[in-house]
Amino acid sequence: MTIQTIGVIGAGQMGNGIAHVMAQAGYNVLLTDISKDALTAAVSLIDQNMTRQVGRGKLSETEMKAAMNRIETTLALPDLGATDLVIEAATERETVKQAIFEDLQPHLMPHTILTSNTSSISITRLASRTDRPERFMGFHFMNPVPVMKLVELIRGIATDVATFEACKEVVDRLGKVSASAEDFPGFIVNRILMPMINEAVYTLYEGVGSVESIDQSLKLGANHPMGPLELADFIGLDTCLAIMNVLHDGLADTKYRPCPLLTKYVEAGWLGRKTQRGFYDYRGDVPVPTR
Ligand code: NAD
Repeated sequence: MTIQTIGVIGAGQMGNGIAHVMAQAGYNVLLTDISKDALTAAVSLIDQNMTRQVGRGKLSETEMKAAMNRIETTLALPDLGATDLVIEAATERETVKQAIFEDLQPHLMPHTILTSNTSSISITRLASRTDRPERFMGFHFMNPVPVMKLVELIRGIATDVATFEACKEVVDRLGKVSASAEDFPGFIVNRILMPMINEAVYTLYEGVGSVESIDQSLKLGANHPMGPLELADFIGLDTCLAIMNVLHDGLADTKYRPCPLLTKYVEAGWLGRKTQRGFYDYRGDVPVPTR
């Protein structure tokens, strides 16, 4: 089947990026959210980000205009029933996602593929509550969407080959690279990345190294572009903790035990860059380690 129109649910950090890259690749995009302000902010952010691409010569003005014209917004979820592929990127709460798919289901065309950008919720479980588990899968973008090359494609237990192939074709058309992952907690990227970040926090907690020495060691000693604690601040410490809890609960192995120091930072509301304080304090001109 050919996918021409894409419905994006949730116009937050990820949803606006997804709408951006889809429109740029030539798809017609229908973006929805429960908040009118979120929709307005998303369109204005996409405009700003595309303007920056034009400034850097990565996009022509004509291409930008055409891409912006391909994006429509709606507050009415049922409008997305007319799209070929739906990518749900709403708040990371299972009850929210489940309600969205339930509400959307009566309006869907028979061939519409449903996907979720969830970082941690079971694709198989979300799929099982819809009328089309075989046409349901995980479509997991990385943040920031326009910059990051990878998309994880996650098959639920029932996902059929045609659905997987159709989604893979979309990723190819975006000029991104897909990695196929089975539906287990954390999929691939977070299954590997989060325990590494958690171990970096344990290394700090046990006094093996300071914030600076840990980050510098991984940057210069393992050739990582960012240190693990710097990266944790970028992702959000609440998100890191939530994913560690999913790994711990879902895989029932103590090796995924979240570090108590990570929990303490989250309890303090020191969530990283978004709250201006995490393993570094971002309130001054240069980030200063908080330990
Ligand atoms: P966000 O908080 O920035 O945006 C979520 C948006 O969903 C908000 O605008 C909110 O108004 C909207 N929303 C909530 N309930 C809704 C509903 N019922 N219908 C329509 N819209 C609704 O969150 P985000 O960071 O963009 O994350 C979205 C999804 O992407 C989550 O599942 C998250 O796990 C996943 N994800 C996030 C990242 C990341 O780094 N932030 C990376 C990969 C995947």
